[in-house]
Amino acid sequence: MEIKHLNIVFKISERCNLKCDYCYFFFGGDETWKKHPPLVPRKVVHDLGAFAARAARDHQLESINLIFHGGEPLLMSKPRFSEMCEALRSYEDGFRFGFALQTNGVLVDDVWIDIFERYQVRPGVSLDGPPVVNDLHRLDLKGRGSYDATVAGLRMLQKAAAQGRISSPGLLSVINPFADGAKVYRHFVDDLGVTHMNFLTPDYTWDSVIPEPVIRGVERFLMATLHAWLAGKNPKIQIRVFSELLAAMVDPKAMELVHTYRDDYRSIVGVSSNGDLGPEDTLRTADPRFASMGLNVANNDLRDLLESSTWQEQADAVTIKPDKCKSCDWWKICKAGRPIHRFSKARGFNNHSLYCAGLKDMYAELGAFLVRNGTPLSDIALRLAS
Ligand code: SF4
Repeated sequence: MEIKHLNIVFKISERCNLKCDYCYFFFGGDETWKKHPPLVPRKVVHDLGAFAARAARDHQLESINLIFHGGEPLLMSKPRFSEMCEALRSYEDGFRFGFALQTNGVLVDDVWIDIFERYQVRPGVSLDGPPVVNDLHRLDLKGRGSYDATVAGLRMLQKAAAQGRISSPGLLSVINPFADGAKVYRHFVDDLGVTHMNFLTPDYTWDSVIPEPVIRGVERFLMATLHAWLAGKNPKIQIRVFSELLAAMVDPKAMELVHTYRDDYRSIVGVSSNGDLGPEDTLRTADPRFASMGLNVANNDLRDLLESSTWQEQADAVTIKPDKCKSCDWWKICKAGRPIHRFSKARGFNNHSLYCAGLKDMYAELGAFLVRNGTPLSDIALRLAS
């Protein structure tokens, strides 16, 4: 299998200063993190640098996105983090790393911002909504809400971005099925001044026991958010899940980008703090096969991972239509959603998305918005069919 992009999610810290009760990484059933180093050792950083350089050479990649992830990546000491960035940059030979980092924001301070500026690290912050929503699940180790500390960190990052020192921090938000999506969205935009965000549907598989109101609640949240976003008519506010789909329905180039985004799941490589390789890490909780593949950056090349049967199985998920999606008009922009939401132990990825009904509503509403604003329905239909 060939790839055109490579995104590496690098678990530099497999511990956290928060204890969010829905966290797939610590509480999703995969406990391999307990056997891994809490912080990535220097040797693994160098092994990863060499692995990435081999991958860039073998697959003709000019850039590799490297997302510093956790647990909480800012639990690493600042000198060690700087040293890690220097070490990784030393392997850039004919390719360039794009550094990004996903944080809960609690530990952000001026020194961290200096480091992000120096090493061009693009920060993203995790927050689920106003305190009444966020602090239901995103708690610190003493059980206290994390909203105030996260927002303090977010504001520091926003200030540095306004000064042109770092890129503007986006928000990543896990949908609370019982919250009002419109209120969460308006809080992010009006109260926090956020312009880029994405909403994640909770990480369930078809094997999870999920009460029906949870699924319906997620669908309701998505639609409320979508209506609030469309009503705002502010092109500067981007919600990735909506913005990309809207563009794809009118612009063939954007449609290609959506395909790239869907294909991204085939180019997301997870690297644990011990150097173990695997697919994007929400799949770890779906089946132990995805958590321990027996491959490591110290001994293996990217090709070993791409050619393994376990990898192939999840990579095929993006191109092979599940039975239930075979006659669906939305397949081209949907591809049955995220792989984790298609998975069951009995049928692998041969399932439609758990959130299928909500996805269909979302696509239909985006299409209707375009038609109301002058795009011929036939153009959209052509784009979806071609
Ligand atoms: S909307 Fe549902 S049926 Fe259609 S492609 Fe997506 S998951 Fe499959």
